Amino acid sequence: MSDNNWCKFCGEGVLCKHILHERMRQISELVKTHQKEMHDACSHLQGDLGIMAGPKTAIVWHMYDDKVIRGICTQCNRFFVPEDSDYLHWFSMESGNTMSIAGRVEPLTDEEKRLIDKHGFGITEIL
Ligand SMILES: [Zn+2]
Ligand SMILES: [Zn+2]
Repeated sequence: MSDNNWCKFCGEGVLCKHILHERMRQISELVKTHQKEMHDACSHLQGDLGIMAGPKTAIVWHMYDDKVIRGICTQCNRFFVPEDSDYLHWFSMESGNTMSIAGRVEPLTDEEKRLIDKHGFGITEIL
């Protein structure tokens, strides 16, 4: 058995908590890398291009309790947050999905209304 099957912290075998923790870390690194590849490969657009007059995004936008609208791509599960450099690019495109709002009590700001109306989310009248 090679040395790296043995824990350098406790000297135990492959199932000690140190080694398991390290394995988990390696796996989540792999998952992260893989996710990034998926995100980069995804068009974030619904269906095949060319069927509709204009492409609609596959992104579901949701207004969270903190009043921040974040999106998630239904195809690659990428999150879209305002901190992203391409957030406005995607948010300004028409979505194929209806926006949802969590526990909304306060009225939308004019800027939100403008963006939402532009998207045809059709929710401003119920607020
Ligand atoms: Zn150990
Ligand atoms: Zn995507």
